[in-house]
Amino acid sequence: MTLIDAAWLRAHPLPFPAQDDDKSQRGTVQVVGGCSEVPGAVLLAGEAALRAGAGKLRLATVRSMAPHLAMAMPEALVIALDETEDGCIGPGAARALVPRLGACAALLIGPGLPGEGAEALVGALLGGIEPGLGVVLDAGALSDLAARPEALRRHAGRSVVTPHAGEMASILGIPKEEVSADPLTAARRAAAVLGAVVAMKGGQTWVVAPDGQALFCDHGLVGLATSGSGDTLAGIVTGLLARGTPPMQATAWAVWLHAEAGHRLARRIGPLGFLARELLAEVPAVMADLS
Ligand code: AMP
Ligand code: MG
Repeated sequence: MTLIDAAWLRAHPLPFPAQDDDKSQRGTVQVVGGCSEVPGAVLLAGEAALRAGAGKLRLATVRSMAPHLAMAMPEALVIALDETEDGCIGPGAARALVPRLGACAALLIGPGLPGEGAEALVGALLGGIEPGLGVVLDAGALSDLAARPEALRRHAGRSVVTPHAGEMASILGIPKEEVSADPLTAARRAAAVLGAVVAMKGGQTWVVAPDGQALFCDHGLVGLATSGSGDTLAGIVTGLLARGTPPMQATAWAVWLHAEAGHRLARRIGPLGFLARELLAEVPAVMADLS
């Protein structure tokens, strides 16, 4: 087991742009998710990707929320998707979205996406895009994944999943207690089945490659267990992938940046009660301190 700490991160530096590189060379991130009841998760994830240094941001969400997101995040191009009566992304959305994904370097699916009914959307996106794009699945996009592992396996070598224990339990079809009792074994099983890097989140986080290689982060603090926190982590992973960082390294860096951002807020604000959105502005300085 290898510990993710400042020494490991310095030994595995992030790709850094040349002074005259433009924003497209640091990659476009596309975030897909949200519903009328949870519109803000894509915003958290999208800003996180930019804070991690991605060059450009696109958000795709339900039509009713798209103008609100566009105003809340003036840096983003916002795509309005077909919406069902109950405020979820509709069945035709993937068909409209896939042709627009060619320009993207990394795709995050899942923030604010209700798990129920997401299978068709996730399957159509994973099946419709060309392998080569970085792919991150979180939250609602993780439901029912084990039933169709081949959809994600198409993207082996470029894919990351970021489940907490409950989501991991549903991926493997085992009780949550079994995951919590041995998160490393669960993460290794999921990584092998899905062909993806797994960030097995919790008080401590395991980052595991499909071949079983494992990195471990114990830098977290309990204040990180707060609403929207996972959305920010998934966004950081996606932003680092868009910059050209390999999936295992991007995930390890993201887990540590997220945790260290929490420590900086804990020192200034207090160990509990900082907001997920407050993590975001901490990320650039944490990255710079490790470069
Ligand atoms: P999510 O449940 O998807 O919002 O993700 C929660 C985030 O908080 C993950 O990054 C977890 O690793 C982190 N987290 C959850 N519980 C704890 C804990 N007790 N101590 C530190 N970090 C935690
Ligand atoms: Mg989550």
